[in-house]
Amino acid sequence: MKFANHSGRAAIVLADQIADVYTVSDGRFGPDPMAVLADWPAFVEFAAGVTTGTAPLVERELRNPVPMPAQVFAIGLNYRSHAEESGMKLPSVPATFTKFPTSLAGPFDDVEIVGTTVDWEVELVVVIGTRADRVSVDDAWAHVAGLAVGQDISDRTLQVAAGAQFSLGKSRRGYGPIGPWLVTPDELPNPDDLALGCSVSGESMQDSRTSDLIFNVSQLIAELSAVLPMLPGDVIFTGTPSGVGGARKPQRFLRPGDVLESSIEGIGTIRNHCR
Ligand code: ZN
Repeated sequence: MKFANHSGRAAIVLADQIADVYTVSDGRFGPDPMAVLADWPAFVEFAAGVTTGTAPLVERELRNPVPMPAQVFAIGLNYRSHAEESGMKLPSVPATFTKFPTSLAGPFDDVEIVGTTVDWEVELVVVIGTRADRVSVDDAWAHVAGLAVGQDISDRTLQVAAGAQFSLGKSRRGYGPIGPWLVTPDELPNPDDLALGCSVSGESMQDSRTSDLIFNVSQLIAELSAVLPMLPGDVIFTGTPSGVGGARKPQRFLRPGDVLESSIEGIGTIRNHCR
């Protein structure tokens, strides 16, 4: 199932149609996407019976499917290739920071370029569907609502300005586009092995697979939920592979006019214009 935020309302994507969740459920679920995520298992059961759309799918109406999560976890140095290009040692626990929730954005929103060191990081985004507290690796996937494409857009200057405290430099307004929708894990033949990549104005910059993650989705949920509970609607940015602009020779950063396009196999593509 594909779950979207269409014009600010929860929607099920059915090919080129959407089914407005509030309408087709007679008010049982929605219209707020976060309310649907709070009642995810019941919603998934309901959604399986929805086969008819209520309106055409309009790409520019797609917004962030998780507009206001309680917690956003973001993982640094979670691909060997990116740790190497950054000259950093591999951490023994997930290198976790946050993107503050108001920095998140829709899959086709513009990105405001501030300064000259704004960088891209394509990432698999995981959204929690049921409370996860001290979950084992084996049980972890059962707590996942869905997967999305994300960009952990980073102001590198601000990121390092406060030493090792990354979160502010990762949280400029609009620097966390997510989408184009959530795909439930059962739609993917192997949700632990998905091609992901991004391009800037047509030039390929990152190209990898999520099977190269150091801490995979199950391990991240187990490690994080050992420390604190994860709640329905919580978001995990799982880390980026090599190919970020700051590690290229010569360095290349986002400029006004650039188009940042990010894709994950089996999920879809998001596209953000820089201005
Ligand atoms: Zn990142």
